Amino acid sequence: MQIETPSDPPGDTRPTTRTGQRTGSLARRLVLATLAFCVLFTAATVLVRTWFAWNTNLANMNAELTLIDQVFQGTLSKAVWEMDDQALQTQIDSVATAAPVGRVQLKILRPGRAPEILERQHNGHTGSIRAPALHRQLTIAPYPGASEVVGELTIEGDESLLWKRLWKEVAIIMLTQIIQSLALAGLIMGMFNRSVTLHVRRIARHLEHLTPLNLKTHLTLERRGKAGDELDLLEAGVNDLQDKLAAHLERQARDEIALAASRDQLAELVEQRTAQLKAANTRLEALTRFDPLTGLANRRHFDELKALEFNRALRHRQPLSVLMCDIDFFKLYNDTYGHARGDQCLRDVALAMSALFSRSGELVARLGGEEFAVLLPGQDEQQALASADRLRGLLARQQLVHSASPVSPFVTLSIGVAELDPANMEHFDQLLQSADRALYRAKSQGRDRCVI
Ligand code: GH3
Ligand code: MG
Ligand code: MG
Repeated sequence: MQIETPSDPPGDTRPTTRTGQRTGSLARRLVLATLAFCVLFTAATVLVRTWFAWNTNLANMNAELTLIDQVFQGTLSKAVWEMDDQALQTQIDSVATAAPVGRVQLKILRPGRAPEILERQHNGHTGSIRAPALHRQLTIAPYPGASEVVGELTIEGDESLLWKRLWKEVAIIMLTQIIQSLALAGLIMGMFNRSVTLHVRRIARHLEHLTPLNLKTHLTLERRGKAGDELDLLEAGVNDLQDKLAAHLERQARDEIALAASRDQLAELVEQRTAQLKAANTRLEALTRFDPLTGLANRRHFDELKALEFNRALRHRQPLSVLMCDIDFFKLYNDTYGHARGDQCLRDVALAMSALFSRSGELVARLGGEEFAVLLPGQDEQQALASADRLRGLLARQQLVHSASPVSPFVTLSIGVAELDPANMEHFDQLLQSADRALYRAKSQGRDRCVI
């Protein structure tokens, strides 16, 4: 399968870039270079061939003059010997009218007489320095074995004929060279265009339209057979590169998915760990604020809240009372029933207290050992005393057996009650001390009672 690409407008064979710019064609540049080379080559060839043609013409003219000389030598010698002036004139004229002859001169030598010169030349012949010339002595053999010189024959070639012949040949040479050069350039352009430019342009268009989505669409050059040449190598190289790129992108996509999954897992893990940490923190906080045995607020938490309630009561001019509760003869309880049952007893008393004082703002705390404190906002000492009595009543109904107690067969509480006196108390601890003193009095008055 091939990528469909928009074709160039008809008539314009120049390729375009991504930005639509027309670029120079390789074939065109090649042809221009070929033509330039042909012009130089033609000029050089014309020069060489002209030089050869000139020499050939000279040789030809020389041969022609020699032939004329051979033809006329005998008859001219005879005419001179026989003093046949008319024949001489006729023959000289004949020689002079021969095409390659520019000028002919016959010097007649007769014994006892001054040399006589007969001369003929073509119209316009002005002497020649380049045309060949022949000088021959005319001899006659009056009897066998004798030879006598009767004259000298000079035949000069016609230079203008030489030039005329040369120009004709030069014209033919130039014409054939030009035709040859043009044909060569055309052939190169055609071949280059068909076998290279078209395919290079196809490769360029293919690469231009390549995206990550069509990497699997291979480049196919429409060529007959497999030449195994550079274009085939390029085609195989491009396809190989596309395959590798596609494989790389697939791997990258897979890796990205895996990365996203592990990122999600990591986020989930972080969330889990954060929740665990929060829970542990909450537990830790509970441990720092609550008594692990009874689940009541501990001394620390009580200290945090007591000041708040103290200030709030002062601010709102509301009563605030405190109960200080202490289990009677608890040491004896431990001694009698063991420490574990002592713990259970502490838990039972704590449960009763938190069941009774569960209104908003009310706080039950274990201050240490078998001592408990209760904050009762909004209650004055009488109300607090009633609450303390209710607590003692509740505990009594529970009948937690305490056989060693001298005051009751069951576990009992001594409770000191105190109410905030805004005029005389600046700190909560003064209120607490007051309740403590009341508790002391309850103890000293015989235990199992509430004292204000
Ligand atoms: P009183 O009637 O005068 O209050 O005498 P008491 O024995 O209750 O008081 P005392 O202060 O003499 O003894 C308190 C005892 O409480 C001593 C200690 O062993 C016990 N105790 C303190 N904390 C715990 C605890 O967490 N668990 C148990 N089982 N016993 C405790
Ligand atoms: Mg005590
Ligand atoms: Mg006690």
